[in-house]
Amino acid sequence: MTVERSQPVHAPMTPFETADGELVVGGMPLSRLAARVGRTPFYAYDRHLLAQRVAKLRSVLPPTVKLHYAMKANPMPALVCHMAGLVDGIDVASGGELKVALDAGTDPREISFAGPGKSREELRQAVAAGILINIESFREIDELASLSQKLSLPARVAVRVNPDFELKSSGMKMGGGPKQFGIDAEHVPDALTEIGRQGLAFEGFHLFAGSQNLKAEAIVDAQCKAYALARRLAERAPAPVRFLNLGGGFGIPYFPGEQRLDLASIGANLAALSQQASTEMPGAELVIELGRYLVGEAGIYVTRVVDRKISRGQLFLVVDGGLHHHLSASGNFGQVIRKNYPVTIGNRMGATKKEIATIVGPLCTPLDLLADRMELAHAEPGDLVVIFQSGAYGASASPQGFLGHPAVVEVLV
Ligand SMILES: *Cc1c(COP(=O)(O)O)cnc(C)c1O
Repeated sequence: MTVERSQPVHAPMTPFETADGELVVGGMPLSRLAARVGRTPFYAYDRHLLAQRVAKLRSVLPPTVKLHYAMKANPMPALVCHMAGLVDGIDVASGGELKVALDAGTDPREISFAGPGKSREELRQAVAAGILINIESFREIDELASLSQKLSLPARVAVRVNPDFELKSSGMKMGGGPKQFGIDAEHVPDALTEIGRQGLAFEGFHLFAGSQNLKAEAIVDAQCKAYALARRLAERAPAPVRFLNLGGGFGIPYFPGEQRLDLASIGANLAALSQQASTEMPGAELVIELGRYLVGEAGIYVTRVVDRKISRGQLFLVVDGGLHHHLSASGNFGQVIRKNYPVTIGNRMGATKKEIATIVGPLCTPLDLLADRMELAHAEPGDLVVIFQSGAYGASASPQGFLGHPAVVEVLV
């Protein structure tokens, strides 16, 4: 029927099982889950897979290293509650996220707040809550000094350092060179003097070099450099280091040919650094903060086929969801070259009749593309298209108001 050549295929998405021709999500066949949710499109996050992921990570991390969830990756309140019971702390990046983390019952001592341009109101919320604030500018030091005085509570602070190195092979660089994040390493000694002079409660350093990295050697290299830099800076600190947040950046495979991150070497390196810290910075706890790696693979986006049409020999499946719910899958959230996310027809898992289809959403823009010429099971209107690897940077990272379609539903199953 079509002469189009399909795009290369993905590795199988192993965490979800199949039974009787359907994907199984949260212990039930996908079509039943869709009926339970009541409408499409929706995101489903599997709590069992989330717990499994944390357990697997803990099995390779030394017990001395604390694991934080960076909730920017998925701020759904029920999911944050679930994660709060699994990890050691939550990292927030706004006053709104702080509220969700506190509502989830997270111990304020284990919440940290990073992000450029924190407003005075957000800083006041943070001081009053008693959480750790990662300072990113000299203005924040002054604001916090005045707020500490007003609230009679010394602000708990760490310095977010913009390092003098970059995270190699990172999908998104967030440290090194000129950046809006953190204080440049060469100015940190002055910031530390100021923090001491203003009477803030200094507790440590935060270094976050980048995101979506699949190369263990690059992550190991960045963590070693972050540790060495923090150790050097600690000599200028007004108080001993209690927390040393080495960032994260652990990636997950999205595209054909991508390999899973090798955790063993990262775990071994963190064990070595932790050992070193126990003598060089006694009392300092090493922390890593992960978003995508913890939640990305536990979530799917489900959208229903509305129309099936052929244009000049190319088959289009038009679905009821699109880039307004899932900007990342459309390739418009930071990707340089658009590639297909792993996609399947979730209610026709065993189908032998295949075809090459392009999946598009209902928005009146050619950017609303969810799968470009992929080989999929033959699908008809009513069938359920599933996009895997959708647990991170999905609903909250998409322009839901664009074109006035209904908001997406999210369920934790
Ligand atoms: C975005 C962000 C994270 C989470 O990054 P992931 O790639 O999702 O793990 C962690 N820390 C900080 C400071 C961030 O800005």
